[in-house]
Amino acid sequence: MSRVFASGGSHKTLSDDDQRVTLPGESSNGGVPVRHVHVTILGTGFAGLGMAIRLKQHGQNDFVVIERAADVGGTWRDNTYPGCACDIPSHLYSFSFALNPHWSRAYSPSREIWNYLRSCTERFGILPHIQWNSELLDASWNEDEQCWHVTTTQGQFLTDILILGNGPLSEPSLPSIAGIGCFEGVLFHSAQWRHDYDLTGKRVAVIGTGASAVQFVPQIQPQVGHLSLFLRTPPWILPRQDHPIAAWQRAMFRLLPITQRLVRTRIYWRQEIIALGFVYRPGMVEEGMQIARRYLAKQVEDPVLRAKLTPQYVMGCKRVLLSDDFYPAVTQPNVEVITERIREVRAHSIVTGDGREHEVDTIICGTGFHVTDAPLAQCVHGCGGQSLADKWQAGSSAYKGTTVAGFPNLFLLIGPNTGLGHNSMIFMIESQLSYILDCLHTMERRALQSVEVRPDSEEAFNTEVQQRMRGTVWTSGCKSWYLDASGRNTTLWPGFTFEFWRRTRHFDAKHYKLIPRKASTRVGKAVVRSEKR
Ligand SMILES: Cc1cc2nc3c(=O)[nH]c(=O)nc-3n(C[C@H](O)[C@H](O)[C@H](O)COP(=O)(O)OP(=O)(O)OC[C@H]3O[C@@H](n4cnc5c(N)ncnc54)[C@H](O)[C@@H]3O)c2cc1C
Repeated sequence: MSRVFASGGSHKTLSDDDQRVTLPGESSNGGVPVRHVHVTILGTGFAGLGMAIRLKQHGQNDFVVIERAADVGGTWRDNTYPGCACDIPSHLYSFSFALNPHWSRAYSPSREIWNYLRSCTERFGILPHIQWNSELLDASWNEDEQCWHVTTTQGQFLTDILILGNGPLSEPSLPSIAGIGCFEGVLFHSAQWRHDYDLTGKRVAVIGTGASAVQFVPQIQPQVGHLSLFLRTPPWILPRQDHPIAAWQRAMFRLLPITQRLVRTRIYWRQEIIALGFVYRPGMVEEGMQIARRYLAKQVEDPVLRAKLTPQYVMGCKRVLLSDDFYPAVTQPNVEVITERIREVRAHSIVTGDGREHEVDTIICGTGFHVTDAPLAQCVHGCGGQSLADKWQAGSSAYKGTTVAGFPNLFLLIGPNTGLGHNSMIFMIESQLSYILDCLHTMERRALQSVEVRPDSEEAFNTEVQQRMRGTVWTSGCKSWYLDASGRNTTLWPGFTFEFWRRTRHFDAKHYKLIPRKASTRVGKAVVRSEKR
């Protein structure tokens, strides 16, 4: 692919329709004109790009996308570890409006997904809207002006609508283990893979056995000298049955897109059935557990190792992993699976609870992300200066995972309780995009300056979500990244995805406080005059 994604913010950063207003008394700008854009989108992963594409398709060009990195792709730009791939089949893990007949495998590698997102960016004309190397530092709602004041590492501007697509899995989380800061070898997170560092012959420790570790362990095992796999809670693993997509099939998908759509639909419903077990009939999960136990028994002959790898909680409580090569890799003679708790990290070793010292040159952390404690929540301030982090002190929540009382004209993509343990996140993202688009249309049609979800509507929605969470596999007693510090599941959608789609098909204005536009204020391509503060 041509290198149109030059780094360093060399692109034009705003659309031709951007507006400039002067803010008298704006101390940091001292009366210097401040840009005003109608819509600001944060992030260029599936969520942010999807939003940008849908806006453009609906004739809205007055928007900017801010991205802290120098390229698009989010998850698929950042996760470059060996073996990184999706675990929802590619035919489904892609935009419904941009099917890709060229997927090389059932579960495409991360590089291919990244290239897909880059080609979508180009194809739908999103590049000129992106402001690169631009990290959001602060976004504050101004009640008098009824707009957001946005501060990024590239400067300040005003925006009517703020849409956050910062990603639920974009802030790597390192384990807090005594002494880890004193480790003198090489330590890195799987989402920040050190490609400049050769693992050949090294004594490598892997901490964490989630979705990423299960993918990279089989890739590095043949290369490293010794691999110590620190595993506290073994995951449930089912066969992935990954396979290349034959050339004739790819040609068929290209020539007859309906055939790919049929395959996609079949995958969607196959995945959706899993929700039945997770949410409504936990008994169904027993069958999956039996398949997984048989799979483990077939792949791991040693009963001691098998016991270490056997999960002791209900399947689905933590994310179910798919792998064809993890078990064969951990049975190799250069791998040791250690289930003891890590007590401390020393300059060149890891000490476990039983007092054993494991000498290592390298520590790779497959320890996940800041999901329920994302730092961005501290940077977004709504009415009265309250931050999202303050608002969410007792646990994050949002109306339909998208809007938050006290934060007018703010929309969250993959907000609280929109995550999935069983199906494609792109489906959830696209449902939210429709909801937001319909809201923006409503605002235009009814000449509204701002919309803010009513606190009682938000509360009723979240009470319902938490009630439905009871009795699901996710509240069956395991510890997982789905749960926040107080043990509440604020991450997952407790139901079928088609229900979420149905509930987000139309913007439901009756649940919102609607503020009409002032006579002098017009949104979109028209001039927006700010009131004096
Ligand atoms: C290894 C891995 C595999 C996965 N596999 C699957 C799968 O198979 N199926 C599935 O459904 N889901 C999967 N997921 C979940 C995946 O994250 C989502 O499907 C989806 O890619 C999220 O897209 P996003 O746009 O919301 O977030 P991201 O892709 O994380 O993008 C967020 C963007 O926002 C930018 N950003 C964040 N904060 C700021 C800031 N303050 N200022 C400026 N920019 C900022 C980031 O740089 C990034 O570009 C996987 C996740 C990981 C980590």
